Amino acid sequence: MPNSTRRDVLKTMGSGVVAFLLGTESSQASHMPGRPSSSTANMGEHKPSNIMSIAAHPGDAFFAMGAPVALAVHNGGQGSLLSLTLGEKGSATIPPEQYGVMQRAAAEKAASMMGSTAEFLHYPDGEVPLNDEAKFAVCDFIRQYKPDTVVTHWKGSWHKDHRACYEIVQDAIFYAALPTIARKLPAHSVRKLFFDDNWEDATGFAPDTYLDITPVFQRWMDACAVFPMWRGENGFRYNDYYRSLAVARGCVANFEKAVALMSPPEQQVQHVHTL
Ligand SMILES: [Zn+2]
Repeated sequence: MPNSTRRDVLKTMGSGVVAFLLGTESSQASHMPGRPSSSTANMGEHKPSNIMSIAAHPGDAFFAMGAPVALAVHNGGQGSLLSLTLGEKGSATIPPEQYGVMQRAAAEKAASMMGSTAEFLHYPDGEVPLNDEAKFAVCDFIRQYKPDTVVTHWKGSWHKDHRACYEIVQDAIFYAALPTIARKLPAHSVRKLFFDDNWEDATGFAPDTYLDITPVFQRWMDACAVFPMWRGENGFRYNDYYRSLAVARGCVANFEKAVALMSPPEQQVQHVHTL
């Protein structure tokens, strides 16, 4: 099929990859023997994106949600990473006060290595409150950074902070978009929401969008490596897990390295025009 025709079809049918609005080069998905071919978007025709990751802890924001942010920046867009806590209780050996300072410093350094910005809300680790105060606080960051796309936790998590973050972000996006909700900054509508591929949020996680992160893979890995916990000090080998997950997701998507994301059900609805 000629490229122009293929693009026209994709435009008509819609695509989860197109939704990212990332200004990357065209990528090609292959047809795997015995399987229907999946759609691949030519993203070169879209403007650079503005992506915000919103996570319970800095490790989630960078390890599980950082690659799309790095990719947006790589493509001339903007990226920001908001953590609701410092993840200060994550070390078995370093006191929370001291560890929180280390986590904040690591997040700021990692964000700058990716050309992005780290923000924090400073709720106590393990005690993220599920209330309107937190939802409006996240709403204010959304209005400040004006992301087209938000990446956050999937609700199928064993971690209560992750589940709270999922709920908070849903309502924060809603509040941010309503002009009749008066805050310091004017309303902003997030166009797309995606859930991350997080080892702690795996229950019911069903990816529908694969993002080619090959151009930013090493930069993202280097940024993650700034965190002491990346190497497994806290009991989980984040380094091995997320590095090999990018390879495994890449195998499925036919990209060298990829991250998988999940869309909310309402975002998967497609409107197909009559030709
Ligand atoms: Zn976490």
